[in-house]
Order: sequence, then structure tokens, then C-alpha cells
Amino acid sequence: MTKVEENILVILSSPSGVGKTTLTKKIQQKYQSFKISVSHTTRPPRSNEVDGVDYHFTSKEKFEELIKTKKFYEYANIFENYYGTLKANVDEIIKKNDILFDIDWQGTKQLSKFKKLKLIKIFLITSNKRELKKRLLKRDQNTTAEIDKRFNSFDEDVKHWKDYDYIIINENLEVCFKQIESIIEYNKNLLSI
Ligand code: 5GP
Repeated sequence: MTKVEENILVILSSPSGVGKTTLTKKIQQKYQSFKISVSHTTRPPRSNEVDGVDYHFTSKEKFEELIKTKKFYEYANIFENYYGTLKANVDEIIKKNDILFDIDWQGTKQLSKFKKLKLIKIFLITSNKRELKKRLLKRDQNTTAEIDKRFNSFDEDVKHWKDYDYIIINENLEVCFKQIESIIEYNKNLLSI
């Protein structure tokens, strides 16, 4: 079996504020084999974000050129900005590493059409909307309007849980992390048999 066939692609999707970014970073710290897929976006950077690390921050014109020339495996318009995953990045990383995607349900649907990509799709949710609002406010990285947009998209986001292989309720970050670890290890073992 080649390295490409042994490597896994894990998608973590969730409504904003469920803890996905923290979990993504924890997974990468624990498993050296994982690289996070760094998306392109036209959204402006937050004060704590670094270009090339959190996202590739890109102009709308450049992004639309990349769409036109079919450079994306998937892209979506979310909260009035584009977000997308470049084919070239994924095809390069998968040669040596497992990949972790922090993308929404629209991107997951599009990626699933590429049958050569063996995806493990995980959907994270909070136990209730009140908890979500609390987390979005606590995160304090968005303006009130941005928090509202993210909160209001919850109902639409959760409608798409059926497109995923695993659904995890994130009531406790450590428990949630352990559940993701079991999923990763189970799927890695399947491929090494
Ligand atoms: P944020 O602006 O809060 O960083 O991200 C907003 C949403 O965009 C999150 O749900 C995140 O998962 C999603 N997202 C980030 N990168 C991508 C991407 O490349 N493609 C898609 N479809 N969604 C993405």
C-alpha cells in the first residue's frame, strides 16, 4: 500500500463556536502525522490570525480567478465571504501526511464527490443554542453583527448532520477530543490491516 492510500482525510464541521478550531489544533499537536488544510478566504484576518497559518487571506478578485481556473476541490460563500480548499495543497500534503479539514457542510458535500479522497466526516454540535451563544460571546473575536450571523446559521448548519459519518456533542472538550482520537485510531488501524 502506498503512503497516499494509508493517509486519512478527516473533516471537522460544526456551527461556529462549537470548539472546532481548538480541537483541530489539539489533534495536530497530538498526532505529528496530521497537517491542517489551510483554506483560502476573502474574509479579513482577526487580530490573532496569521496569514498562511490560519488562512491564506486573499482578495475577492484572486479568489474568483482561482474558481474560474478550477483550482479548488471545494469552495463556499459563507457569511458573505468566500472560503475554499485548493486542490494543489491537498494533493501535495496527502503524499506524506494525514489531513484535517475545518470546513462547512457545503464544502463537505463538494469534497465527497471526489471518490479518490477517502474522507472521514465528523460533525460537532453543542447540546443547545444557549451554550453556543455563550461560547461565541466568550470568544470575543467577532463584532456583534458577525456573532449574530454565526449564531443564526446554527439551524441551517445542523440540518446537514446526515451527510457525516460521526456526530459528536461537545459538552466537554476533553471528552470530545477523546472521541475524535478513537475515530482517528480506528480508521488508521483499518487502513494498516
Ligand atoms: P470563520 O470565519 O469563523 O473562520 O469560519 C467560518 C466558517 O467557514 C467555519 O464554519 C469554517 O469551518 C468554514 N470554513 C473555513 N474554511 C473553509 C473552506 O475552505 N471551505 C469551506 N467550505 N468552509 C470553510
